[in-house]
Amino acid sequence: MTRNAATALCLALFCAVSVPAQASCDASSFPIAVDIGHTAESPGAISAHGRTEFEYNLALGQQLAASLKSAGFPVGTIIISGEGKAQLKQRVDKANRLDPRLLISIHHDSAQERFLKAWEFQGRILRHADQFSGFSLFVSRANAEPEDSKKFAMLIADQLLDGGLSFSSHHAMNVVGERKQLLDPARGIYEYTNLRVLKDSRMPAVLLEAGVILNRDEELALASPQRRMAISDAITTAAIQMCGGNGAGGLALR
Ligand SMILES: [Zn+2]
Repeated sequence: MTRNAATALCLALFCAVSVPAQASCDASSFPIAVDIGHTAESPGAISAHGRTEFEYNLALGQQLAASLKSAGFPVGTIIISGEGKAQLKQRVDKANRLDPRLLISIHHDSAQERFLKAWEFQGRILRHADQFSGFSLFVSRANAEPEDSKKFAMLIADQLLDGGLSFSSHHAMNVVGERKQLLDPARGIYEYTNLRVLKDSRMPAVLLEAGVILNRDEELALASPQRRMAISDAITTAAIQMCGGNGAGGLALR
């Protein structure tokens, strides 16, 4: 079956397909920026087992950069130091200087304070939120390329879901700090209009929360090389589809 026939069949069935790499994708002329969320000085959430979000972001971001490079993409990895708004501005400035065709910002998720429960691990009192699990994707309608941002997020979601992962809907909960609009309830894609790295980057941009590191079991999975590899491969496949120029060809309702 040709790819077009497969896509037509899929659209007729309202299914999601893994579209094979496009012959028209010249990865070497399609640079991609991998943004490592947070900094060593301001490392984000503390996981259920006491590690920092930044450690997780760095490990996954480096694996993703390697996966993209092996697919032929030039990759710019954005690692910023410092704290506060200054590091956010540096991050966006770096992304815009790199001038990639796509930007993916790598994060790991937490939960609102009210949901955290104390537990003891290796003599430390830590906190967990085992009731939440799964990935989340964020895009901004204020981004310069909102449609391609959303398309990239949909392609990533389809790869992650087809790989057996699931998304979290906790960012849509009606509690302070959440209340995000779930743009695509079948794919875990949220609108986050004013998120700086999405709003001010001049290329299609997606932020991935790879999973919830406050969930004790999910954290252990996220710490494994296998999970990092699976997520990296999913994003790389989505990037190849974007690079092929008709990434939405296989997209339909899930
Ligand atoms: Zn984060």
